[in-house]
Amino acid sequence: MPAANSYIAMIIDLYCVLSMILQERIIFKSVILTRDSCFRLGRVQPSWEVREEKMPTPSNNATPALATLPKLGARTLGDAQVLYEAPFNDLLFQAQTVHRANFDPNRIQLSKLLSIKTGGCPEDCAYCSQSAHHQTDLKASKLMEVERVVAEARKAQAGGATRYCMGAAWRGPKQRDMDMIIAMVRGVKALGLETCMTLGMLSLSQAKSLAEAGLDYYNHNIDTSERFYQEIVTTRSFADRLETLDHVRQAGIRVCSGGILGMGETVTDRIDMLVTLANLAPPPESVPINMLIPMPGTKLANATSVDPFEFIRIVALARILMPRAHVRLTAGRTAMSDEMQALCFFAGANSIFVGDTLLTAANPGDGRDSSLLRRLGMTAMLPEGTS
Ligand code: SAM
Ligand code: SF4
Repeated sequence: MPAANSYIAMIIDLYCVLSMILQERIIFKSVILTRDSCFRLGRVQPSWEVREEKMPTPSNNATPALATLPKLGARTLGDAQVLYEAPFNDLLFQAQTVHRANFDPNRIQLSKLLSIKTGGCPEDCAYCSQSAHHQTDLKASKLMEVERVVAEARKAQAGGATRYCMGAAWRGPKQRDMDMIIAMVRGVKALGLETCMTLGMLSLSQAKSLAEAGLDYYNHNIDTSERFYQEIVTTRSFADRLETLDHVRQAGIRVCSGGILGMGETVTDRIDMLVTLANLAPPPESVPINMLIPMPGTKLANATSVDPFEFIRIVALARILMPRAHVRLTAGRTAMSDEMQALCFFAGANSIFVGDTLLTAANPGDGRDSSLLRRLGMTAMLPEGTS
């Protein structure tokens, strides 16, 4: 029955056209209503900055502001400030571009940190619960036995960690401690893990002994800018910190050095800290970015927290200034939302500490981390030299 078929087809077409017109009207009406009510009531003011800007054409829509940013290799405070102050999306785009040129963006390096000697430290770092200058609940302990350190490292390896970091609350190791420290490095290295230590100041000969034992990384954070350093620590100087980093380099050990945000420093102090690190020759292979954990009993127990976007900007800047470094999201992750951490990874962070403690502070724990990485489609990076 062809006549009946075309009659039915005509009705269907008519129905479709009518419903499209009706939908348009409804949408159109709701837009008019919303804008009308805003203008009529005069209450709704846009709180964002409105700029008259030409829409980018498809050929130049790759963030036009980037063209005015300094190219990679910027090492002066002024250049770094220009990068930092770029619109957020431009900064993150550039950081992600640098990240992709140097790393697999969906791989993350997993480290585990163990406190091998806790509390009673003679240094007066304003943020630290392990300083003997602060009244905290922390119980001080002696240097851990080598067997126990190696057993803990084995557990961390079974949990997916590829780098094992051992930290001691010391101004620096005493000569009498060196034999045990060296035995720890050898024992952990023999498991096939990368090794890292953070023991405070090192003499050149101590650094050389650690290098001979096979230590891969030495952590020694500069923490902040040279200008702000004396506000945070008075028992040593910024120059002392740089001297140890120099000993570590001379001994042939890879450098891990970064800092803390949220201690009352200015944005310029944060940028300056990164510029100092980027100008080390060569820059550190690993750059931890900590968000202050305000520990009760320390001088910074009531410090104001950092704006998350300012934190993410610093991560992005670290990635751009030190393209080949592992940028590590370190202390303070417990207080960060999953979304903030995801933005940090997008900005170029590609290393975290796993486990539910970070020396003496809380860390998100394996459950939350593995769920986050799964949701983001990220997987663990293999140790260097493996494929
Ligand atoms: N005593 C050694 C030293 O200071 O080099 C090692 C101890 S620990 C790994 C030192 C680092 O942990 C500090 O440099 C700091 O960056 C970080 N840290 C310590 N307490 C912190 C806190 N409350 N919030 C954020 N980061 C902290
Ligand atoms: Fe001691 Fe290190 Fe804590 Fe400073 S950060 S008080 S040096 S353990």
